[in-house]
Amino acid sequence: MTDPVSLDRHGDIAVLRIANPPVNAVSSGVLAGMVAALDAFEADRSYAALLVHCEGRTFVAGGDISSFDSPDFTATVYNGTLMRLESQDRPVVAALHGTVLGGGLELALACHYRVALPGTLVGLPEVKLGLLPGSLGTQRLPRVAGIELALDMIATGRSIKATAAQRAGIVDEVKEGAPLEVGLAFANALVARGAGPRRISGIKVSQVGLPADYFERALDEARRKKAFYPSARNIVLAVQASTLPFAEGEAVEARLFEELRTSPESKAQRHLFFAERQAGKIPGLPKDVALRAVASVGIVGAGTMGGGIAMNFANAGIPTVLVETTQAALDRGLGIVRANYEASAAKGRLTSEQVAQRMALLRGTLDHEALASCDLVIEAVFENMDLKKQVCARLGGVCKPGAIIATNTSTLDVDVLAEATGRPADVVGMHFFSPANVMRLLEVVRGAKTAPEVLATVMQLARKIGKVAVVSGVCYGFIGNRMAEVYMREAEFLMMEGATPAEIDGAVEALGMAMGPCRMLDMAGIDVGAKTVIEYGKAGGLPPDDSYRAMVRTMFELGRFGQKTGAGYYRYDGRKPVGDPETGRLARELAVAHDIAQRSDISQQEIVERLLYPLINEGAKILEEGIAYRPSDIDIVWTAGYGFPDHKGGPMFMADYIGLPVIAERLLHYGQVRGNAFGYWTVSPLLADLAKRGKRISDWHAA
Ligand code: NAD
Repeated sequence: MTDPVSLDRHGDIAVLRIANPPVNAVSSGVLAGMVAALDAFEADRSYAALLVHCEGRTFVAGGDISSFDSPDFTATVYNGTLMRLESQDRPVVAALHGTVLGGGLELALACHYRVALPGTLVGLPEVKLGLLPGSLGTQRLPRVAGIELALDMIATGRSIKATAAQRAGIVDEVKEGAPLEVGLAFANALVARGAGPRRISGIKVSQVGLPADYFERALDEARRKKAFYPSARNIVLAVQASTLPFAEGEAVEARLFEELRTSPESKAQRHLFFAERQAGKIPGLPKDVALRAVASVGIVGAGTMGGGIAMNFANAGIPTVLVETTQAALDRGLGIVRANYEASAAKGRLTSEQVAQRMALLRGTLDHEALASCDLVIEAVFENMDLKKQVCARLGGVCKPGAIIATNTSTLDVDVLAEATGRPADVVGMHFFSPANVMRLLEVVRGAKTAPEVLATVMQLARKIGKVAVVSGVCYGFIGNRMAEVYMREAEFLMMEGATPAEIDGAVEALGMAMGPCRMLDMAGIDVGAKTVIEYGKAGGLPPDDSYRAMVRTMFELGRFGQKTGAGYYRYDGRKPVGDPETGRLARELAVAHDIAQRSDISQQEIVERLLYPLINEGAKILEEGIAYRPSDIDIVWTAGYGFPDHKGGPMFMADYIGLPVIAERLLHYGQVRGNAFGYWTVSPLLADLAKRGKRISDWHAA
């Protein structure tokens, strides 16, 4: 392997070249190389300037995130090197291209001048990992871009384009060409006009035009709107410290960074960052498996899911045909898609040309033969086994050899549907979440006979359409809905015991859940939830317990379908849920009917434990059965698909944080007080074993 950093002569200019593929991340090797290159540059006074240039597709795109977890992590070496770079007495230029992010932008800001190629993006995305830029980004960016823009960029983590960066003073020039040539031309021009060093640390931050209480208000907003994220508060404080002399601000940034690095919130967010990368790795799948080409897609059913799914492909430029049973259903489905795009255009997120381009990629038809030429066909018809089997059998005949056939079923047995096609190796589950054009999660269900290349193709396609894909084995509800079932079970028992939907939702929303279980099902549809439970009962999947999900079944009979009918667990004032005495009455009635004692002492802690611990326990069962490959996959499912807070890292990460012995003990406790006739509180052998051995769920690997 060649050295990741070298110093080469180009006339009078010394070029510090970084080559650390794929994204030139700052590693210990890069750092050591930079120090050696600076030694060489300082020793040779014949150079007129130094140019920092990166090989490959981008300038330094960030730091080595895994190093943040090391107990002896320190930013001092990198920060010291950047300080040394800035203190050079000959001009130092950065030639920017690609994605200049995090530690990369901090490196660029330590240089005296910056020239960028037109496509360059610059940003400080550390907040997405619950951190702040800890290599003087919070101190240098406000000095060039001003406090307001700097705070906005650091607090949101958003990147800006080269031209905007130039307007903001972050970049001196934007020029077309190859990065090295553009950089050399800029450096030579500087030398020719005798320009000297220009150090950002020496600039005094301007506060002109800022209200006197600017930081106070920003801090207040961070506390209110981002209450769960200490990074939001620390970022404001760090940017505020840029108004101090540089060395003082540096010390403040270092302290605030360290606070975040060791915070549970950032650890959870970093866990998810790595979890997402892990999720793409599928055990037993050969690395070099040849993928099938997917240049066109067909979708059967243009309902809630079909239309949303189609939008994903149109957004990625893939022609998609939608097949329906009636012209009216087709018109309705395509009409909703168009309305969605137009709403995005009205918000300025799409141009009218983009709307037209995307709509032109979507074609509707009543003729199943139109699917014959598609490389992938996804069925999204009603959740009914007989209908889906019929549709799958038809697809098995219509789809060309080599086409992939996918089902969007939420709960049905993918292996049964695969057999119905007559070509099970071509079949896979693609479980999108509603709204399918918005939700990031895709559960990819691997059937017993799914061909390796089918699985690999769908995983890659998921990335192309901007989804985070997690592989699940075949079981009722797959990973997410299977776990949601125990969560809903306890929500309903709590209700029948006397807790209100608002108390139940409030308890988990206080932890940061986007939405509690009652609001969630009211939105998804009580009818949808009830039908699933009823169907599962018919298939023999339910415990012999008449009180099981009694609330949802009764509300379904009463036509209380949730938000869409104006009443479910809540009553709706428009979209606003309001407490409904009728739900309380119903719960009391069902409690009497099922001999459930009502009580008035249900604490918030009990609600949290009874909702989350069975969920975690079910996750452990899912691991044991080989339905999920790893605990972190479950965390992705719940954070990307069910609004589980990222600052808690997902249910399995949270389980390790709470401690498995605590969870096992509480499950046993509830089994004693609630009774365990149906096994609801039986601790999964995996969880019990790990708890006994003092291990963590994250220590677990499939045998
Ligand atoms: P939906 O009722 O909104 O849409 C189903 C559509 O399929 C209807 O427009 C219907 O006309 C059409 N259809 C029925 N039979 C057909 C046939 N033979 N050929 C062509 N079209 C046919 O239902 P949905 O909510 O979009 O659900 C579809 C699937 O997606 C189900 O399997 C469901 O479990 C799953 N799913 C739904 C959600 C959700 O939240 N709605 C989430 C994930 C998965």
